[in-house]
This record gives sequence, structure tokens and C-alpha cells, in this order.
Amino acid sequence: MLSRRDFIVGGSAATAAYLAGSYVPLLAQNAANIGAPSVVQVGFRKQKVGDIEIIALNDGVVRRPLAAEFVRNAPLDQVQELLRTQGLPTDYIDIPFTAFLVVAGNRRILLDTGFADNGAPTTGRLQQNLNAAGFKVEDIDTVVISHYHGDHINGLRNKAGQLVYPNAKIMVPSVEHAFWMDDARMNAAPEGMRGAFGAVRRVFGGLSADQLLQFEAGREIVPGITAMAAYGHTPGHSLFVAQSRGEKFAYVADITNIPSLFARNPDWAVQFDMNPEAARDARRRTFEMVVNEKMMAGGYHFPFPAFGRIEKLGNGYDFKPVA
Ligand SMILES: [Zn+2]
Repeated sequence: MLSRRDFIVGGSAATAAYLAGSYVPLLAQNAANIGAPSVVQVGFRKQKVGDIEIIALNDGVVRRPLAAEFVRNAPLDQVQELLRTQGLPTDYIDIPFTAFLVVAGNRRILLDTGFADNGAPTTGRLQQNLNAAGFKVEDIDTVVISHYHGDHINGLRNKAGQLVYPNAKIMVPSVEHAFWMDDARMNAAPEGMRGAFGAVRRVFGGLSADQLLQFEAGREIVPGITAMAAYGHTPGHSLFVAQSRGEKFAYVADITNIPSLFARNPDWAVQFDMNPEAARDARRRTFEMVVNEKMMAGGYHFPFPAFGRIEKLGNGYDFKPVA
């Protein structure tokens, strides 16, 4: 069982750094040993789902040393063995960041935002990939946020404080918003966690009620896109299902971190899951839904192009990226 403290702290100083979106110290500390991640060369990919178009937009990749705490509830040698059987490196993890643009009629809806210029040097590429895909930041009418971790929200504002998508309404899960915007909770949080609360205020502070819209799970939030509760990774972590002509696309956000570990073994908890037990239940529920309803799935930390099919494999699931 996890204590209340685990839920709030999220496990470790490394988690706090992750939440705040500051990967750079981790990189600098280990750069000599593990090298830099390879950049995704063509960082956008278009996919039709019925009449709508889904465009994966990569923001970058960060390489982290594979430390014992990355998977909270499995020994490191088991984690390394699972990577080895898939031909993956065992001393580091490359974590990609990929947002999705939904083009539906005259609507342009961006799901999550990357870092803009607030992250590690190997991030911040979403805008150039958006341009390469044929769109400008001004074209985005709505930004929908899955949860308030730094790698998902920091791209809403650049370092100078300007909104990156000047014409967009910003839609956020009401449960997530209530958790992070609670000043009493921030003030009671341990020092290492303050950065995460601060990042939320940097991004959402000063937005008018007209710009910032909160949504409830289970509702259609824009025509053709429904929000679903998948609480656990964070208190209000939400995912989104877009449908058109009987075809469905599920943006599953951080229902897993890299699928080579957490889809293969859904009972493993990544160190960033704030409530690991709820996160595990949400993960299994979500994968069952995606498989049973034959949805196309996209995940924020899936290997680029970051969308594809989910298939059952053993006690878990396998992610099969689109060709
Ligand atoms: Zn994330």
C-alpha cells in the first residue's frame, strides 16, 4: 500500500525534477556514459481516422539513465531483461514526447503541448514539426490538456511568458485543475514538489475564464472528441477518444510511459505514477477498451510515430506502430 505521502511526493527527487520539466541536470550528470538521444528526423505523421486527420507531432526525446527507481515495483534486472528481449538498450531509456493534432472540418485541436523553449535541448521541436505538417500556431483553435505534468503543459507558454497558440481556447480536466491550483496543497507539499505547482501557475495563471475552460470526464468536449477519466498517473489524468464514420482514435496520454515496459507489463509502475494502484487499474481498463473496440491508439511517450494498434501479448499488451 502507498501512503498519503507517496501520493503527494510522487516518490523521489527525480520525480519532482520530471514534474517540473527539468531534465537537464539528469542529462548533464550522465552525458559521458549514455550519450544523447537520436532526434526524430521527420517529426510529424498524418493518419486518417474516418473523415478526420490525426497528426502526430514530436517535440523531442530525452535520454535518461535506467536507474532502479524507474520501475517502482520490479527489480532492475527484470526490467533490463524485458528490454533485452526486445533488442533495446539496458543502461538508458529514451523517452519521446509526442502531441497530436486533430484536424476535423474547420477545427484544429491540439492534444498536449510539449515543452516549447522550457525544456532540455533535445526538446522544443513541436512548432517546427507543426509547420512542416502545414500548419501555423495561429491555426490552432483549441488546446486540450491531459494532465498537468510539465512535459505536457509547459509548451503552452514560452519562457518569455507569451502564449504559444494565441488564438486557442485551452481545455483542462476540472479534477486535475482543482488538485494543482489548490494553494494550501502547494504550501504543504515538500520542497522538491513545489516546482511542479509553480509550473502550473506559470502556465495557467492570468488566463481569463474565456480562455481557460474546464471539462468533466465522460463528456464530448469538442464535436467528435470525448474525454474519459483515467485517474492515477495524476489525480485528474484524462484521455480522449475521437471518432468519425465508425473509426476511433484514442489518445491515451500517459496511461503508460514507454510501452516496451509498461504495455508489456501493465502491472509495473513507472516512478511518475502519482497513485500507482489507480494508474495500473486505469491502464488495464484502457488497453482492454482499445483492443476490444479496435481503436487506433496514440501515446505521448510511445516511440514515434507514436500511434498504432494495441494487441494482447501474454499478461500484457504489445504496441504495434503504424508502418
Ligand atoms: Zn508525460
